[in-house]
Amino acid sequence: MMFQTRIEEIGERSLLAAKEYLLQGECVAFPTETVYGLGADARSDAAVANIYAVKGRPQDNPLIVHVHSGYDLNELVYDDKPYAKKLREAFLPGPLTLVYRSRGTVSKKVSCGLDTLAVRVPSHEGAQRFLRAVGIPVAAPSANRSKHVSPVTAGHVYDDLYGKIPLILDGGPCSGGIESTVCDVTGDRPVVLRAGLISREMIESVAGSCDMYVLKEGEPARSPGMKYKHYAPACKTKLFAPEELGKAKEEFFALQSGGTRVLVLCEGSAAAAFPQEAVLCLGNTPAEMAENLYSLLREAETRAEVLLAVEPVGRGGVMTGVLNRLRKACAEG
Ligand code: AMP
Ligand code: MG
Repeated sequence: MMFQTRIEEIGERSLLAAKEYLLQGECVAFPTETVYGLGADARSDAAVANIYAVKGRPQDNPLIVHVHSGYDLNELVYDDKPYAKKLREAFLPGPLTLVYRSRGTVSKKVSCGLDTLAVRVPSHEGAQRFLRAVGIPVAAPSANRSKHVSPVTAGHVYDDLYGKIPLILDGGPCSGGIESTVCDVTGDRPVVLRAGLISREMIESVAGSCDMYVLKEGEPARSPGMKYKHYAPACKTKLFAPEELGKAKEEFFALQSGGTRVLVLCEGSAAAAFPQEAVLCLGNTPAEMAENLYSLLREAETRAEVLLAVEPVGRGGVMTGVLNRLRKACAEG
């Protein structure tokens, strides 16, 4: 179906419209503290199928169910691990998705046939108002075309999904900037499947231990989404390690003198190596870099033919998530 996509501030009228659309099986985009989500009724096979169609998302990449704070998770999952309860109390509502054993109350299409279900309680006030107003569990991936850079403003959603959805709820720019941490809580100890703003170290400090899942070649992925190319801007990209700054500089000036429109994405401390007008500066702290990354990748594709990205120096904590996104955005293929 084709729509005249509308962007509306969050208010009584737009929330009522959002609820009606969801109950009709349509998708509605909404803000969260991480990125914008593309929500649909998680209980309905047809509504969930609609999400995959709108995004062009591979059929084996499961979705996260979003609920408002105070929603009884026992309706959806078996919340039986004491450490999982501790994590909930410490970090929810917030940018942490927990993967539980599913009770099978939502459409099987949400988890692509897995017996687990990923659940998230966003802290963003607009997301809370939306989820409370609709009152149903909302399945939602990021509200972008599959494989493109995730959206952190209503305008980004509009650029990717115009005509495909009826309504985008505008809650301003997302402050977190990268997708939620995904943490499996079905086993004896938590396992981070996707790094994010709640770091492995933060989870470990609450749960006592925490593993980081590493996808091994030839094994089925525990978090199917991790095997796909992601977050890619439309321009060509090339990634340099922090110690390759000199090489990045050489390449920059070679491209520029050849007439190529080239920009550099780097952290504040590396910016001085390049002409100021060619730098897309990620910022100086891990939180700033997470917040700015996707907006800058989207800016790069509108202004540059080639983006040279220099990895920031920092490692661990929130930088694990930032680097993971940056590397995927600049990956080949
Ligand atoms: P997105 O909504 O685009 O941010 O992607 C959701 C992420 O959550 C993907 O990387 C999925 O692989 C992961 N995910 C969702 N549900 C599950 C699940 N039941 N088990 C493991 N990972 C999941
Ligand atoms: Mg996504």
